[in-house]
Amino acid sequence: MYPENPENFQTRSGWIEVICGSMFSGKTEELIRRLKRAIIAKQKVKIFKPVIDNRYASEKVVSHDAREIDSVAIKTPSEILAASSKMNVIGIDEAQFFDESLTGVVTHLANRGLRVIVAGLDMDFSGNPFGPIPSLLAIAEQVTKVHAVCMRCGQPAQYSHRISADKSLVIIGEKDKYEPLCRTCYSALFPPAIKLKKLRD
Ligand code: ZN
Repeated sequence: MYPENPENFQTRSGWIEVICGSMFSGKTEELIRRLKRAIIAKQKVKIFKPVIDNRYASEKVVSHDAREIDSVAIKTPSEILAASSKMNVIGIDEAQFFDESLTGVVTHLANRGLRVIVAGLDMDFSGNPFGPIPSLLAIAEQVTKVHAVCMRCGQPAQYSHRISADKSLVIIGEKDKYEPLCRTCYSALFPPAIKLKKLRD
């Protein structure tokens, strides 16, 4: 973002950043990078994540490359409001697991002058928009879509293809359960399902 009116650039106001992409695309890594820079800049930073994400460590946000940062595990987005007083920067990881009320909470924080950085999966394993992420993309000042590497052809990947047969929406897993795929390789796996959906419409 470039300020068109530098004189007013110092006016205290917050904003929303969203980092989205598939699994193994480096979302959490990018979130941690931004938050660590904010800490270096002596900002008061707090990080939240849903209780459901208990892989690796219960009180830390840890990326696949083992970078980590202390975090608070919460059940509902409203808990962020109560725990954010006197903070400058709020990070939210695995945001797709929260309900739509996250959008209102994030807006409230940004309106109060905080920088809010949200990271999450933009699509579920079926390729559908995931939870509150589409709404957050719409209201954010800045959006970053990161990509994994397609495990079949090496192109940039945006789909989180589930290798395991389980059909429930939420399965926390690693590379034994999911593989990142590009559009070409992902769509080659599911052409019948797309045709069926069109027939129903
Ligand atoms: Zn591919």
